Amino acid sequence: MMDTQLTIDTLLVRAEKYFTKKEVISRTSTGITRLTYGDFAKRTRALASVLDILGVKYGDRVGTFAWNDHRHLEAYFAIPSMGAVLHTINIRLSSDHLKYIINDAEDKVLLIDQGLLPMIENIKDEIPTVEAFIVLSDNEELPETNLKPIYHYEKLLKEGNINFSFPDNLNEDDPAGMCYTSATTGNPKGVLYTHRSIVLHSMMLGLADTFGISESDRAMHVVPMFHVNAWGFPFASVWFGTTQVLPGPNFTFNTIGELIETEKVTITAGVPTIWIGLLNELKTNMYDLSSLRFIVCGGAAMPKGVIRTYQEKYNILFVHAYGATETSPVTTLSRLKSYQQEMEDEDKLEFISKQGIPVPGIELKVINNQGEVEKNGKDMGEVLLRGPWITDHYYNKPEKTAEAVKDGWLYTGDIATVDFEGNIKIVDRTKDLIKSGGEWISSVDLENALMAHEGVSEAAVISVPHEKWQERPVAFVVKNATYGKVTKEVLLDFLEPQFAKWWLPDDIIFINEIPKTSVGKFLKRKLRNDFKDYFISG
Ligand code: AMP
Repeated sequence: MMDTQLTIDTLLVRAEKYFTKKEVISRTSTGITRLTYGDFAKRTRALASVLDILGVKYGDRVGTFAWNDHRHLEAYFAIPSMGAVLHTINIRLSSDHLKYIINDAEDKVLLIDQGLLPMIENIKDEIPTVEAFIVLSDNEELPETNLKPIYHYEKLLKEGNINFSFPDNLNEDDPAGMCYTSATTGNPKGVLYTHRSIVLHSMMLGLADTFGISESDRAMHVVPMFHVNAWGFPFASVWFGTTQVLPGPNFTFNTIGELIETEKVTITAGVPTIWIGLLNELKTNMYDLSSLRFIVCGGAAMPKGVIRTYQEKYNILFVHAYGATETSPVTTLSRLKSYQQEMEDEDKLEFISKQGIPVPGIELKVINNQGEVEKNGKDMGEVLLRGPWITDHYYNKPEKTAEAVKDGWLYTGDIATVDFEGNIKIVDRTKDLIKSGGEWISSVDLENALMAHEGVSEAAVISVPHEKWQERPVAFVVKNATYGKVTKEVLLDFLEPQFAKWWLPDDIIFINEIPKTSVGKFLKRKLRNDFKDYFISG
């Protein structure tokens, strides 16, 4: 067979040739922009031509610091298609982490959303590799800024060449994208995606048994384009000619509801925090969400109670997926097998809320000291992954690589059980697992059970030191403001029938908000730190 290269430019060319009329719908700071794939392709080629004039060479890193909009999508294709590396930078990082990753990646050019300029202005003297700044904005003129040299994106595009030819020597094994892990400890670690890994991951997203993204879909990417390529959805959508809806800057749950209704979104993806927030929004404002085929949810465990409520009250289904920055990210997902359709609703829900089986292309095993765990839904072990879109190293970090990649497998640091159907259920991060008297307690199971109570809006469970049992679980709960009184006793009574007695939290502490990471996951390290003097005596 021919050894043609799996490169990003070929995805763009397909949309450009065959889906000229299909649309990218982009919410920006001034309104909604509608762009056909025909125009999108011209603008993308023009962007590549101006980056070329600015001196970007094969293999150079170009950073984006932006929300989900059409300009960011143009960068997604222009940068890799010209042979450079698209480095998406998380806009919620601290100044220290921002500096660290821009310097580690040695970004040559930065594309920055106008609203986010101050964060880069603050560190401008400490990022010496950056030779040019480009402002992404709807405004006609450049804003006041001390960044130099500074360019106006739209003006540059006007001067660009809409017929720019991408180099014909792109190699599928060369880096096309780069993203840093959202570090909860230490410095973020860089992961490089190759053209090949992105193309194969995109192809997987279109399979009928994964998300089946297709031309007829209207896909809204709520998951940020600055984190793990918005789970690969933008790449797959362009390739398949899928209509895309990009929710833009500072969106609210109201924006999400409105966009689903007005743009008739058929598939969307995001972390549980988003869908829990939308559920609260639906209590006061109704939207027509009937166009949705399903919602893809991942990045953290999706509480079963939330899936149930969406299904029962709004007839909306979820597909629960699991992955990480290191894995492009999608590696497993949960869908019922044909013979499981006959099961009772509650049993179906139990399966759907797990993280599921590996997608085609990915191999998985769950191991503990005794080897691979039994498929009994009980034994816990670490999830190991291998496949063409799983990273085999961290950028510039041989020691971190040696810890995470062994014998050709990525050690994820996630602990799971495996049921008789092969579904994994993530029960914890290695470091979050509660080790009580030599036994393991899953903080995630306790959190999900608590969040199934109507009086609870969010719950996080951490381990605290214990003089007899070494560690014991303590729960932090944010009350649901619209519900009546909930107390520690009410919640413990609610948990009691669901767990062995020794799993029950030793304390339940009510707080106003669970601290979150830059991508909206619970930041348990902060809770552990804030309550580090809290000690339960036996
Ligand atoms: P990140 O690299 O920031 O995307 O985080 C990846 C981590 O998020 C994984 O290693 C898991 O700990 C967690 N994670 C991702 N998806 C899920 C999921 N569906 N359920 C539980 N945890 C998840």
